[in-house]
Amino acid sequence: MIKNDDDKVVFFDIDGTLLDTSDFAETARKAAIGLMVDNGLPLDKDEAYGVLKTIIREKGSNYGKHFNVLTQVVLGHEDPMLVALGMITYHNVKMALLRPFPETIDTLIYLKSQGYRLAVISNGLTIKQWEKLVRLNVHSFFDEVITSEEVGKEKPNKLIFDVALRKMKGNPERSVMIGNKFKPDALGAVNAGMRAILVNSDVTEEDREYIKREKLDITIVEDIGDVNTIL
Ligand SMILES: [Mg+2]
Repeated sequence: MIKNDDDKVVFFDIDGTLLDTSDFAETARKAAIGLMVDNGLPLDKDEAYGVLKTIIREKGSNYGKHFNVLTQVVLGHEDPMLVALGMITYHNVKMALLRPFPETIDTLIYLKSQGYRLAVISNGLTIKQWEKLVRLNVHSFFDEVITSEEVGKEKPNKLIFDVALRKMKGNPERSVMIGNKFKPDALGAVNAGMRAILVNSDVTEEDREYIKREKLDITIVEDIGDVNTIL
């Protein structure tokens, strides 16, 4: 490794950036509900899905016991068999749908060849995020996964970016955050002194105006395959 490049770090968001996660949680939740209803949860599938969505909204998506609460709410008590069915189905369907974008691996190889060290900054649970990287067999590209679980603050809070830079011994001026969401990924990173690249993003015209007006160091490209035109 070239010594001068040691402080160059590319940080990645996972979902929607490295991984194609379009609709995947919803599909997995609906499959889980389907099996729970077929095995005795006394609601129709749409109703049950509605109740589950309310629980997820109230408890947050990283809460580990959505299906337990669902059986409590519907039956008045927890039903361990239905909870197990729901959890296993959800997990298996989600993992079956997990896939990188077509250009993800080539881009990771390219960035390593350019002397960047790689890490992940993610709002979520540390082991779950590593699990995604391991299942896709891209874990060996990454030195660290920094999560909101570990730091206690979610992106766009500056602290999670500061902790990530410190852990990776990254120089913010030579480091980059690549993500798919304007506020958590791009704004969070520039507030911490890094530049940002947005891929597959949902940036609005207003966001684009704001980036221009404030002269923010945020570049918007189509997808992860375009990163090699910038870095
Ligand atoms: Mg994302």
